[in-house]
Amino acid sequence: MLIIRVALNIPVDTLFDYQAEDASMHDIGLRVCVPFGKKKITGIIMAISTKTQVPIEKLKSVYCIFREINPIPPALLDLFQFCSQYYHHPLGGVIINSLPALLRNNKPIKLKDSTQHPLGLTNLGRQIDITSIPARNRVARRLLIAFQNAAQLTFQQIKQISPRASKLLDKWKQLGWIAEQPIINTTPKATIIPTLTAEQVNAVTTVTAGLERFNTWLLHGITGSGKTEVYLRIIESALSHDKQTLVLIPEINLTPQLEAVFRARFCTTPLVNLHSGLNDTERLTGWLQAQRGEAKIILGTRLAVFTPLPKLGLIIVDEEHDSSFKQQDGLRYSARDLAIFRARKTNIPVVLGTATPSLESYFNAINGRYQYIRLNSRAVQSAKLPSIQYIDTRIHKSQDGLSEPLLKALEKCLSEKHQSLIFINRRGYAPVLLCKSCGWSALCQRCSSRLVVHLRDKKLCCHHCGHEEKFPRACPQCGNQDIAPFGQGTQRVEEALIAHFPSARILRIDRDSTRRKNAWKEILHAIHTHQVDILIGTQLLAKGHDFPNLSLVGILNADTSLYSTDFRASERLFAQLMQVSGRAGRANVAGHVLIQTEFPDHPLYYALQQHDYDALAQTLLTEREVAGFPPYVYQALLRAEAHNIKVVLNFLKQAAHLAKPTQAIQLFDPVPAQLLRLKGMERAYLLIQSTSRKQLQTFLAEWYMQINTLSARKIRWTLDVDPIEF
Ligand code: ADP
Ligand code: ZN
Ligand code: ZN
Repeated sequence: MLIIRVALNIPVDTLFDYQAEDASMHDIGLRVCVPFGKKKITGIIMAISTKTQVPIEKLKSVYCIFREINPIPPALLDLFQFCSQYYHHPLGGVIINSLPALLRNNKPIKLKDSTQHPLGLTNLGRQIDITSIPARNRVARRLLIAFQNAAQLTFQQIKQISPRASKLLDKWKQLGWIAEQPIINTTPKATIIPTLTAEQVNAVTTVTAGLERFNTWLLHGITGSGKTEVYLRIIESALSHDKQTLVLIPEINLTPQLEAVFRARFCTTPLVNLHSGLNDTERLTGWLQAQRGEAKIILGTRLAVFTPLPKLGLIIVDEEHDSSFKQQDGLRYSARDLAIFRARKTNIPVVLGTATPSLESYFNAINGRYQYIRLNSRAVQSAKLPSIQYIDTRIHKSQDGLSEPLLKALEKCLSEKHQSLIFINRRGYAPVLLCKSCGWSALCQRCSSRLVVHLRDKKLCCHHCGHEEKFPRACPQCGNQDIAPFGQGTQRVEEALIAHFPSARILRIDRDSTRRKNAWKEILHAIHTHQVDILIGTQLLAKGHDFPNLSLVGILNADTSLYSTDFRASERLFAQLMQVSGRAGRANVAGHVLIQTEFPDHPLYYALQQHDYDALAQTLLTEREVAGFPPYVYQALLRAEAHNIKVVLNFLKQAAHLAKPTQAIQLFDPVPAQLLRLKGMERAYLLIQSTSRKQLQTFLAEWYMQINTLSARKIRWTLDVDPIEF
């Protein structure tokens, strides 16, 4: 009798032993359904043993080991282990949450027809003569002819031949006549492959020369320098070695554009897109194609870092600085950092691409821990970097957020039939409802945040918890009827622009307008075919998109990030302004950026105007070193929440009391979170830092076990390693 050791998705970090009559030593990585308390749950077999600590009479038997799909490969189980240890999160939770939802069920997988692979004749099958099938087997003959005429047939196509045709498939598979085949894209498009610039050649040759071993490359290329083309060439090289490439991107909205580029270039290469907008079946199908090694290019958002990839040969993390790579609840992992771990374990290169490296990556690159590659000029010769100018809003008063010089520039741009973009920096900023006579503002009942005005639907919404309510008629505090939105939201700016330019085609892009499936595809199409004159948008628009007709970018509200309490605010603002400025002037149209500000002399703005990433990065690094912030130290937070802040702070104090920090560890006092209340819970955290990552990890591992011994009823707590939000 073998004992199987199972990882289950429960908040205790241990494996559970069961007996399984039909287990074999090859079952590690398989799904298994087991009794747990009174419930039935599904976990993953992590180990197989002949011994157990559990008294044999207490050992339960498994219900069922699922064998319909291959086990999770050991390399991926390693990644889960590392992730569990590094982020101090129960292993079962790490594994189960990373799996496609359909694999978390207590049921075997039934692959629907649509998820089955197309079939095609094998070499043996091609030799079968039609006359060897008796004429009365009409369906069989028709099916064989259909196979002979098409490279491959899908299940649907086979059913159309005859409902009975599908019954023949199993037998023919057994006879070795037909076999499942990877999906081939049948619509190759002619694409023009550009001649690489000298800088691109250098990037491609250096990376491809090292495809056989681990290296972290920081590909720091200014906006429009052609990083995508570099990716394409390295992927091509990986493909020629029959290797899989994992491409991680921060935003689901970026996937259609990149997917289209990849499909056009690699039209016969199976590609799957594992973004967060897939339904369960789609995700499972893509995951299985990746697991079987059939999908050669795997494009995905952060969760895709956990895809099983037997032939992984290259990882690309596009826009590596983007904070979306870090999950902000539950298992707070960084997909970028896990990608680097995975590359090291697999001994393959990982390429971090960006126009504005995170300070952590930049620091590693200048210190030689990463290999540094730079692309300093734009790939399209005629494309120049945009000119950046500031509009001093102390001199030029703005109305509805728009100053006179900006309106003039928009008008000029319209008359020249170019596109323009109004970018609204919304980080920590949104229009709120304010009573100017008593100072009342609309607050969310459940969170300590202000409600955001949605002018069009006459609604107030909480952007933290989703709570919605109607506009009050008058100030609930003083009865004043003249309460008005304060600040510029996208909708308010849109109304103002419509009033100024009634004939212009204006498109607002925000979370609301992009929620629908395919909304982004339609929007991008409209922009590319020049059905839009003025775009209005937030951070969503800043990332990676290529808008060839765009010549003017206007930026509102950038100042709100200059004096933030978050030490990463400047870094993020700079990255964002660089990104959004980079949208202008990408092809044959000269780009122009206007930034409305009260602080035109701020060093950050100066560096931006000079397109001087290094100058700002050096300044920020010096500040961080003096203040003792990352990348000079490593941080972790103990986060806790409960209905009452007193309980939370008390819990954190107890936890601090249990800690036995060594010299190398700094433990701070518990503090309430900036956003104290969220979804009805009050939150606080405790910061721990160290100049040694290793020492911090050792400390956290021990501390984690001790915190677990605290009675923490009504408290939810978690460790956040390498936190990026406070
Ligand atoms: P990045 O991602 O670095 O901002 P992109 O990869 O979007 O830049 O490239 C910017 C533009 O330059 C794209 O339109 C792309 O087709 C074009 N491009 C890239 N490489 C070359 C090249 N070697 N020659 C001409 N055009 C190029
Ligand atoms: Zn009032
Ligand atoms: Zn709320």
